[in-house]
Amino acid sequence: MQQTFSNSLNDQIKERSTGLQAENPDLIGKTIMIVEDVPSNYQLLYAYFSKCGVKIIHVDNGVDAVAMISDGVKVDLIIMDIRLPKLNGLMATQQIRTFRKDIPIIAQTAFAMQSDREMCLKAGCDEFLAKPFRKQELMRIMSKLI
Ligand SMILES: [Mg+2]
Repeated sequence: MQQTFSNSLNDQIKERSTGLQAENPDLIGKTIMIVEDVPSNYQLLYAYFSKCGVKIIHVDNGVDAVAMISDGVKVDLIIMDIRLPKLNGLMATQQIRTFRKDIPIIAQTAFAMQSDREMCLKAGCDEFLAKPFRKQELMRIMSKLI
C-alpha cells in the first residue's frame, strides 16, 4: 500500500540538486495520501511525484482514507478524488474534518463545474483541481499548502 521513492539520503541530495526538485524543496520527506480509484489516474499522480522525495500512500476509496487518518497515520497532505467507491470524496473530507482540521486537502475531479469547486471548499477542502491537470499546476497549489 505504501511506496517510497527515495529511501537513501544520497538519493534525496541528488534530487535536491535537480531543476525539478527546485519546484518545491519543502516536499522532501513529506507523506502524501492519494485517494483515487482509477488506476491510470493514480499512476499519473504517482509519476508527478517521482522526483520529489515524498512518500506516497495510495487509497482507492473514501472509507479507507477516513479510517487511516482516524487511526493516526501520519500524512502531510491529501489529494482527494471526489467520485470514489464506498464513500465519496466530499463525505470523506467532511468526516476527516470532524477530527483533523489541519491536514491540507486538495480535491480533484473530472468534468468539473464551478459548483463542484464550491462544494469541495464547503466540505472542507483547501483547494480544488479539475482533472486533467498538469504537474506544474499541482505543484503550484501544493506549494501554497505545504
Ligand atoms: Mg474516481
